[in-house]
Amino acid sequence: MRTNGYRVSAAVLALAIFLFDTLSPLEGAVAVLYILVVFMVARTGRRTEIIATAAACLGLTLLAYLISHGIGLPGSPTLRALVSIAAIGVAALLALQNQSATATLVRSERRYRRMFDATRIGVMQEDWSRVRSELADTSPADLEARAPELIRIVDVNPAFLAMVGAADAGSFRGTVGDILGAGDRTFAGALAAFARGDAHFEGETELIGTDGRRVPVLFAITFPATPEDDGNALVFVLDITERREAHDALHLAQAELAHAARVATLGELTASIAHEVNQPLMAVVTNGEAGMRWLRREPPDLGEVETAMARVISEGRRASDIVKRIRAFLSKAPSQPAELSVPSLIEEASALVERELARAGVHLSVKAPEGLPPVLGDRVQLQQVLVNLMVNASQAMADHPGNRRLAVKAWADGGKVEIMVADTGPGIAPDDLQRLFDPFFTTKPDGMGMGLAICRTTVEAHGGSLTVESVPPHGATFRLSLPTRELAT
Ligand code: ADP
Repeated sequence: MRTNGYRVSAAVLALAIFLFDTLSPLEGAVAVLYILVVFMVARTGRRTEIIATAAACLGLTLLAYLISHGIGLPGSPTLRALVSIAAIGVAALLALQNQSATATLVRSERRYRRMFDATRIGVMQEDWSRVRSELADTSPADLEARAPELIRIVDVNPAFLAMVGAADAGSFRGTVGDILGAGDRTFAGALAAFARGDAHFEGETELIGTDGRRVPVLFAITFPATPEDDGNALVFVLDITERREAHDALHLAQAELAHAARVATLGELTASIAHEVNQPLMAVVTNGEAGMRWLRREPPDLGEVETAMARVISEGRRASDIVKRIRAFLSKAPSQPAELSVPSLIEEASALVERELARAGVHLSVKAPEGLPPVLGDRVQLQQVLVNLMVNASQAMADHPGNRRLAVKAWADGGKVEIMVADTGPGIAPDDLQRLFDPFFTTKPDGMGMGLAICRTTVEAHGGSLTVESVPPHGATFRLSLPTRELAT
């Protein structure tokens, strides 16, 4: 519509100039005004129209000259006409140049827009100008807590909207604070990089979707090159939910495998205990019955009774030996003893249960100073003990109202390292406390009740101890005590 307006105005203007040029007694280069017509048509952005208009204007200039002056000797009117023709030519050239520059720009803008709209990578345009101005008199560390609220989200692409589950870009305007979880650890790094003047920052974090869902993402921020461009920080975001789930599933599978391996060993063990102990027990019963029969005789045959009793005792011993052998097997030395750093053990175990804790809404705090003396043991087995304690705590707190906090703390105490795993769950009833480490004791509908029994056996095989304290309803505190390397060797 607007282009038609330009065309009509240009035609009217051209006609007016022509009439004025032909009819006016004024001696001037009126035809120069045709450049206005050319520029007006140039606004339509069409090359052919610009060329046709310039040609028409040149024709009208010549026609007006011929009508006014005829074909005679050249004079000053001829010079004026030539000036006008040159001006129209130059105007047309400029308009064409401008048109081709604009067309290139439009094409590049379209390409960029297509990339922005069609890519599967989420793109966010952010305005960091307020952060820069605050950084002038605040250190990045002091600004850290407030900074996400200062960064305005200017634009987001459809991939990003899909990632956070928002309906449209209009409904998604706010600050970075709205999409980052409180206490996001990666943000401090991004802020420090911006303050240093780095060009990029990459990291991994979690976004909060519009429905409160946490979306794990990889991101790369491209910071503006100059302060004037601060409104154009670009953030590229890749949803790694599937990758994370696969990773979690792998961890879970590993943990389950370790668990299954133990359950299988235990199953075999139970079967062999039953088998081996059954024989001497049967022999005890048979000999006991025989002894009774010899006793009931008139007169009792004490010699036979003695033989039967001797067999009862020896079979009883056999059974006891079997039990001893099994205990020795269970508490045999750890399979791959190595010098282990307690903070790393805790960190690795925490990483394994991180997702489980997040799902249950449990806040984990770890205090394990780096300088702790190392313990000697099997990394996987001790990790499993910590994982078991943390998962139990998380499960205990999952349905419990109030704050869900899990504190893991380690400290050195004489020749030992103590590790405390304390939760704010419902705690353990005094009656249950007695039986907590017994095999097959469980209060969970789908529990197996072997976790804590195996944990204690494992810890004792390492020369340590595992105890629990609990005063319901104030949570449970498990205490793991492991001898340090010096003591264990
Ligand atoms: P399972 O987890 O299969 O039940 P466990 O031996 O690991 O086997 O745990 C035995 C029982 O101990 C659990 O069923 C639960 O009742 C209790 N328990 C363990 N840890 C905690 C805890 N942190 N808070 C409350 N109860 C706990």
